[in-house]
Amino acid sequence: MARRITGTLVIATHNPGKLREMRDLLSIHGVGAISAGELGLPEPDETGSTFAENARIKAQAAARLANQPAFSDDSGLVVDALGGEPGIHSARWAGPDKDFAGAMTKIDTMLRERGATSPEQRRAHFVSALCVAWPDGHLEEFEAKVDGTLVWPPRGTRGFGYDPMFLPDGHTRTFGEMPAEEKHGLPPHGKGLSHRARAFLKLAEACLVR
Ligand code: IMP
Repeated sequence: MARRITGTLVIATHNPGKLREMRDLLSIHGVGAISAGELGLPEPDETGSTFAENARIKAQAAARLANQPAFSDDSGLVVDALGGEPGIHSARWAGPDKDFAGAMTKIDTMLRERGATSPEQRRAHFVSALCVAWPDGHLEEFEAKVDGTLVWPPRGTRGFGYDPMFLPDGHTRTFGEMPAEEKHGLPPHGKGLSHRARAFLKLAEACLVR
């Protein structure tokens, strides 16, 4: 039986785009959130080799330092024709200046170098691994993905990271063109669209009071 979440969660991220989406998702269930940045917590090194391991590292570090339950997301863009890269290195590909226009150009250039110009050759998915860690060491972990294709040039100015080049299957707008509610795609209008919203629905089902 999963442990229920009560009270306020520390959101273990320093990424403003993720923070906004994680706050949004929690607020629907009336769960309060304070960010690791607001608490002045340091960012731990992400030394794991999977999304789940890195999510665990971030949530456990924040829970220990804040002595409060902490919620983390480790996520990234997995490109089939690039052997799964950038994957867990998605943030790193943008460099210290967080240059995602540059990171998207790099992906497009690498795809073209491999002759990947058709939508079928430009398949990708976003993955989100969520972890809630309690100070006593208890963990709850959830993971989900969303499949799509990578378009060029990027479209839209909403969202963050690689959103403008990601066209989710069954849609005509990229994540960069969608308002946040459409990217989440939550019930009652949808069954969860983004990787993060889909993983969050699993978390809500297990750990949040309905
Ligand atoms: P990390 O999980 O903090 O290591 O960073 C994940 C990186 O993956 C982010 O900085 C983004 O570049 C990318 N990413 C994860 N989720 C999304 C998303 O929903 N939209 C666009 N980019 C994302």
